Amino acid sequence: MTHRILILGGTTEARQLAAKLAVRADLDITLSMAGRTENPVEQPVPVRVGGFGGAEGLADWLGEKKIDLLIDATHPYAARISANAAEAARISGVPILALRRPAWEPVAGDNWTLVDDADEAVAALGANPRRVFLALGRQEVAAFATAPQHAYVIRSVDPIEPPLGVPDAAYILSRGPFAEADERALLEAQKIDAIVSKNSGGQATYGKIAAARELGIAVILFRRPELPDVPSAPTVAALLAMVDHQLAPAEKRGV
Ligand code: NAP
Repeated sequence: MTHRILILGGTTEARQLAAKLAVRADLDITLSMAGRTENPVEQPVPVRVGGFGGAEGLADWLGEKKIDLLIDATHPYAARISANAAEAARISGVPILALRRPAWEPVAGDNWTLVDDADEAVAALGANPRRVFLALGRQEVAAFATAPQHAYVIRSVDPIEPPLGVPDAAYILSRGPFAEADERALLEAQKIDAIVSKNSGGQATYGKIAAARELGIAVILFRRPELPDVPSAPTVAALLAMVDHQLAPAEKRGV
């Protein structure tokens, strides 16, 4: 019997999970991407691209494609699709599992200011000119145009279009993972004194946080958005075990 699984992706873990599940003859995997990135990385399973049209649209899609299991492996800050996924699972009756990457926790030496959004981050930078490293997506960067007194180094996967309307902005196009030593070199070379970032969790982008600690640089971190409470695992390995359990015949699950 073939089990059909839809993975909501856009993260490294979603790709890793898809690769692990793709080798199994009993599974038929589809990976869903929002279609935001201009040059998306190659995926190990068939991909569908674009929104579903809200929770109802996703629920309809799950029914049409006879999906047996929905896996939300989206980014921790992709709160809308996670909410839609939980609601679509409820409407359709399709079981859902989520991969919830744990947030970074502060350790001794960290100098973090927590904010809820880009406007609060701008306020937290203060009035005096600073040299700021923005490790953010396109949507969040725009708010920093209201603080043109700072010099910005902006790193993103896709170009910031239109460019930030400030006199001093440099752009780095790059996709992680980023090694701590390279991050430290970048922060020193650019004389950065504040970093603005999401609390993405995981190792791939933690290097800048560790380097900031060593260098005594302030970090302005976006708080995590609230995500729906669905059965979840913190790692790909743990989620794989949950998938096995979920797809086991009901009597083996003790249902
Ligand atoms: P979002 O605000 O939670 O979702 C906005 C809308 O985009 C959703 O309502 C849905 O449209 C569509 N969508 C999002 N993810 C989708 C997916 N995997 N497949 C199909 N449709 C999807 O999402 P976002 O923050 O813009 O993130 C978009 C994508 O980028 C996600 O796949 C996420 O994993 C990835 N990503 C996000 C971040 C981040 O910081 N937010 C960072 C790295 C990667 P409909 O309502 O029409 O279905």
